[in-house]
Amino acid sequence: MQNLCRTLSWLALALLLAFSTVLALHASPNAKPTDDATLLILNAQLADGTGAPLREGALRIHGNRIVSLGKLSPTSGERVLDAHGLVLAPGFIDIHNHSLDGLDSDPLAETQIAQGITTAVQGPDGESPWPIADWIAARRKNPVAINVAVFAGHATIREQVMGKDFKRVATQPEIEKMVQLTWQAMNEGAIGLSSGLEYEVGSYSNTAELVAMARAAAEHGGFYSTHIRDEADKAFDALLEEIEIADQAHIPVDHSHIKLGTVGVWGKANEYIRVINEARARGVDFLADCYPYEAWHSNIKVIVPDKQYENPKSVAKAIADLGGPDHLTITAFKPNPSYERHNLAQLAKSNKLSPVDMYIRIIREGDAANTEAGVIGHSMIESDIKAFYQQPWVMVASDGGIGIGHPRGAGTFPRVLGRFVREKRWLSLPDGIRKMTSLPAHRLNWTDRGILKEGAIADLVLFDPATVLDRSTFEKPQELPIGIERVFVNGQLVWDSGKPTGARPGLVITR
Ligand SMILES: [Zn+2]
Repeated sequence: MQNLCRTLSWLALALLLAFSTVLALHASPNAKPTDDATLLILNAQLADGTGAPLREGALRIHGNRIVSLGKLSPTSGERVLDAHGLVLAPGFIDIHNHSLDGLDSDPLAETQIAQGITTAVQGPDGESPWPIADWIAARRKNPVAINVAVFAGHATIREQVMGKDFKRVATQPEIEKMVQLTWQAMNEGAIGLSSGLEYEVGSYSNTAELVAMARAAAEHGGFYSTHIRDEADKAFDALLEEIEIADQAHIPVDHSHIKLGTVGVWGKANEYIRVINEARARGVDFLADCYPYEAWHSNIKVIVPDKQYENPKSVAKAIADLGGPDHLTITAFKPNPSYERHNLAQLAKSNKLSPVDMYIRIIREGDAANTEAGVIGHSMIESDIKAFYQQPWVMVASDGGIGIGHPRGAGTFPRVLGRFVREKRWLSLPDGIRKMTSLPAHRLNWTDRGILKEGAIADLVLFDPATVLDRSTFEKPQELPIGIERVFVNGQLVWDSGKPTGARPGLVITR
């Protein structure tokens, strides 16, 4: 009887193993690998994320980890994936991602995994969920396809302390309260402090307030991610303030979406880079991220730095600085959706107004409805973007996210691989991948993601270097890219030949 039982259970186990192998390979890609199951990816071009040259080899996953890589052959019964002709890289880490709402509406994060993103950092530009602990708990209860992490937002904390009375410099007791809340957020698991100093709430803070909060984040091992005060005519002053904050607070920096966004500073990337290299040379831990587009996406008010939104002189200068009214396109405007997808020159013409008066009309209609028009500004130039991309301290990040009305939300990573690496040859493939993997992992202080090595977490992307390309456009911002074949998050397949598998193995990664 005992023997029979044993025989039967062996038989059952053998059947189960055989069945699960078949299942995993053919039928149900989101079936969880059992503890004993390994997957061998064979004949891949391994890009380890460090920038080292690609080498042909295999990689074995067990559970959520990479267990070995190099010259490997399958063990009997092992699941095997032939990756002939494909590059196998660490999953892409998007260190500046706006998907707070999108994670609820699309937990499969289709536009993100389709790009090879396996981790997306939320709460940049000064605005984060609050309290951080509640957000983390809610996200853990309702996991999504990708890993997420979260910043403590400077503006969010500022509003907690100052309420609606934020249009002024904070008092010393208020700054102390902000420092306490920064500590709280860091203790709850935030990975650093983000700021958006060009936006309403953040713009009233002074440098001392930012230094105090950044110091609190630094004391907890965090870094400072900042959308600086000005990315236009005063971009150099704003950069110097950022370096001063890094210096005084002893905090590593990620300069968000580095750009030179007005006519007056076009072509000055090399001067900008020189300032940054000097700071780096004297020990400032400075990295930047850059999205691969000549157009930004924000709110209509950001183009008028003196906040005189109804002053024709200020507005005229703002429009000229962008390169003209045809450089500003409305993406979203609830009070008057007929403006959407038209640029300011077109709207002015059809409404028989000057571009300045048309701008002021959109401001007034927005103010009346307590909202602001979303806009895309075509106001960067390719030579500046190229110069930034070629710096070893520049990462790829989207500033996009799920459901964003700018093509960067669905196109950033394949665009860099297809256009900047393959077509324009601005970067080598290993270097492009490094900017998407080990470099952001380094900024995040993560040693087991963003790299292919024994024992690292199996966040992986398998793509075709000959075809990978973005397809999202300003007209169709959600169009999915091509060439990203398979994506694994924590060892589980989430994207398989053009479709999400339905698996949601993403974790919340805390500091
Ligand atoms: Zn920003």
